[in-house]
Amino acid sequence: AMYVGANVGSIANVVSSLIQAVGASERVFELLDRLPTLPPAGSQKPRGSPAGGDLELRDVWFAYPARPDINVLKGINLHIQPGRKVALVGPSGGGKSTIVSLVERFYDPQAGAVYLDGVPLPAIHHQFLHQQISIVSQEPVLFADTIFYNIAFGMRRGEDSVSLAQVEEAAKVANAHDFICSFPQGYRTSVGERGVRLSGGQKQRVAIARAILTQPRVLLLDEATSALDAESEALVQEALDRIARDRTVLVIAHRLSTVQSASEVAVISDGTIAERGTHTELLAKGGVYALLVRRQLTAGAPSASTSLAAIAE
Ligand code: ADP
Ligand code: MG
Repeated sequence: AMYVGANVGSIANVVSSLIQAVGASERVFELLDRLPTLPPAGSQKPRGSPAGGDLELRDVWFAYPARPDINVLKGINLHIQPGRKVALVGPSGGGKSTIVSLVERFYDPQAGAVYLDGVPLPAIHHQFLHQQISIVSQEPVLFADTIFYNIAFGMRRGEDSVSLAQVEEAAKVANAHDFICSFPQGYRTSVGERGVRLSGGQKQRVAIARAILTQPRVLLLDEATSALDAESEALVQEALDRIARDRTVLVIAHRLSTVQSASEVAVISDGTIAERGTHTELLAKGGVYALLVRRQLTAGAPSASTSLAAIAE
């Protein structure tokens, strides 16, 4: 669903002209689901180009436009230095996905701000911002179009057109090339309602290939829970490990292995950071995090790559 704030009129105009221009196609509606409801952004590029990848949330307060009375985030402070990896864990509904949405600049906070290399996101040119910050979610948005387009779309308008060789290269790194080539039409295969239905893991690898092509400095990951079969999960994980290397990463973590390998863990609960530290530090502390982990282990989770999500529900 889409939550429209103060600028209802302008969004409605954009929508109606889009529909007139393109027709009410599936693609338009999928695009609309992702249209930010914010005024377009400023012109700044952070110092240096591309960005260094320093990400900071400074005293961020946020309520969704549809429920302005409920503060979902209550003064979040989180600083991630370039190349570091922070894992967000915590109970369902605590605000993890909301934090990621604000870093994507899907919404702006009511108080406080998100900074990339010290520049508040609203001051940054939106195209530059989208090149520097990419998200790989559990449910990636694919367009009802070819696989080629779905990967190349990461480059957005105004970029040099992308060659098939570049798209193939990205797909190889993302562990997507082989399954794409198994379709008779290869990269020209259509996906979506009228095309091939991709599995969850395949969609994610297409989304990873898209992110690889964009070469973002900051990567946002919403780690898959149990939706993927074991083989797909291993391929997705390997691709994610490759793309995460040398990048700033904010990951909503459901697996213990992810949390253990992060530079730092932030436990998000009821819109605040309840605890932060390394996995080892937080275990030793014997607080909320230790309880989460202990409950998970005593719950007798079935696989070795145990899921923090199960205990977080
Ligand atoms: P988490 O990812 O930790 O499970 P979320 O960030 O998704 O938590 O949600 C935090 C809170 O915000 C929850 O109470 C949830 O119901 C609420 N929420 C999430 N999305 C919306 C939305 N689009 N509109 C209104 N409230 C929302
Ligand atoms: Mg979530």
